[in-house]
Amino acid sequence: MEIYCGKSVYNGIAIGKIHLLSEPSSAVSRLRINDVPAEIVRFQEAKTEASHQLSDLYEKTVREVGQANAAIFEIHAMMLEDADYITSIENIIRTQSVNAEYAVSVTGDNFSKMFLTMDDEYMQARSADVRDISDRIIRILLGVSVSDNPDEPSIILADDLAPSRTVQLDKKLALSFVTVHGSSNSHTAILARTLNIPSIIGCKIEITPELNGRIAIADGHSGRLIIDPDDETLGQMNRRRLEDENNRRMLGELKGKPTVTSDGRLIRLYANIGSDGDLASVFRNDAEGIGLFRSEFIYLGRNSYPSEEEQFSIYKKVAETMAGKPVIIRTLDIGADKKADYFQLGHEENPAMGFRAIRICLSHPEVFRTQLRAIFRAGAYGSISVMYPMITSLGEIRRIKEITDEVKAELRAENIEYADIPQGIMIETPAAAIISDILADEVDFFSIGTNDLTQYTLAADRQNDKIDGFYEPHHPAVLRLIERTVKNAHKSGIWCGICGELGADTKMTETFIRMGIDELSVAPSAVLPVRLAVRKACAGYEGAK
Ligand code: PEP
Ligand code: MG
Repeated sequence: MEIYCGKSVYNGIAIGKIHLLSEPSSAVSRLRINDVPAEIVRFQEAKTEASHQLSDLYEKTVREVGQANAAIFEIHAMMLEDADYITSIENIIRTQSVNAEYAVSVTGDNFSKMFLTMDDEYMQARSADVRDISDRIIRILLGVSVSDNPDEPSIILADDLAPSRTVQLDKKLALSFVTVHGSSNSHTAILARTLNIPSIIGCKIEITPELNGRIAIADGHSGRLIIDPDDETLGQMNRRRLEDENNRRMLGELKGKPTVTSDGRLIRLYANIGSDGDLASVFRNDAEGIGLFRSEFIYLGRNSYPSEEEQFSIYKKVAETMAGKPVIIRTLDIGADKKADYFQLGHEENPAMGFRAIRICLSHPEVFRTQLRAIFRAGAYGSISVMYPMITSLGEIRRIKEITDEVKAELRAENIEYADIPQGIMIETPAAAIISDILADEVDFFSIGTNDLTQYTLAADRQNDKIDGFYEPHHPAVLRLIERTVKNAHKSGIWCGICGELGADTKMTETFIRMGIDELSVAPSAVLPVRLAVRKACAGYEGAK
């Protein structure tokens, strides 16, 4: 039995096989080899295996979701046979006497960069494809699983998990996420909380291929990964799992009960989602609406922009499924850790403070308009609101309003049904919180994003595990900004909620209610614990309405 410690980001116990997610090709090491011809054969065999896999994938995808969705595997298979690509790999192996993994990784990188610099959009999109095929060959060479998805429900172990990877995982097959890096506020941690699965970050384990398939326990209570557990530990953990189930049953009794303080103040308790796939969890946990739909996940894990129709059908489905309950869709918040190659965001020294979210939307109005059209149209099918991320100034809101007015006028002129839905903003920069008195006159509601508000207020990158200790959402500076924002919202007669992770901290529930917070939007798994905390809390004289 081996035990590795880390930090829990969601509690619970998962028992199952480890499924190792291999590193992308950039992490491959360069090794000298003696037998060059044998290494070339190794590469050719891996390429043949990749080609078999792609044709299997093509057929499976045609069967399951149709030809159009399968076309990508055909393109990959063609690229795999590209003479320049193959020659480059074999040349590197031959001239440098190095391992095939390294040669594939370097070639994949070079070709991908070259595609990106081309004028033609179609060729630019091939950049991600060449990376994908190179990763496939490398994983075959390394003997690790090629698909990100395990064959059976498993503990997903990885060095780190980018949102573009997690978005492709079949969530039903993830019993737990365990990562060597990552921070508690990363989107993987948020995803784990959405899925209600025990998860550990900062796990001090050296990732080696032989870990794949070994039986392990991810203990989200203590933040430990236990590999090859002995019978006694397995027994203990199974008992703990039963206790967890009992607690969940107790919380289950709060389903259908109002989210009201002991002195009668009603709080709106909503859930955060990343895709329509999370709706089941929203219902299971009895959320009263959706307070944050992170729409950028629709844009991740693919090679081109989602069309208006594609987005419209997702937003409409969410609105209709929620059957009149509020759904707040946040517009595209891409950038920083959430990247898709086709956006061609390029390298930035400080991506969190760089080109992201509303900044991208305002400088790519065609992308923004497509999304807005889809959201306004879906508004006719339920109770949708829209909100904008990363706001720092009044000028941005004015510009957004010009664009939304134009979009609505266009829809009217085209005789397309839409609804004039409420528009709010996220308060997640200190600038927005400080001028919230001015901003409140321009919008219909505020939703405080404490994840980013904390990082920007404390100058502490939320992705950087080295400074987890500096990232302190309870810091008085953050709390004062929250209080100020709520007060300013109420002065202008609009409501104010919290949709960052701090909203789910039940030790803070009463404080927020006393500040006057009207709404809390939390991971689906946190809805019932927060309802319990609200029902125990007292709004007090100031908060009671
Ligand atoms: C936040 O910043 O608090 C927030 C809710 O948005 P995200 O975590 O998606 O950046
Ligand atoms: Mg944010």
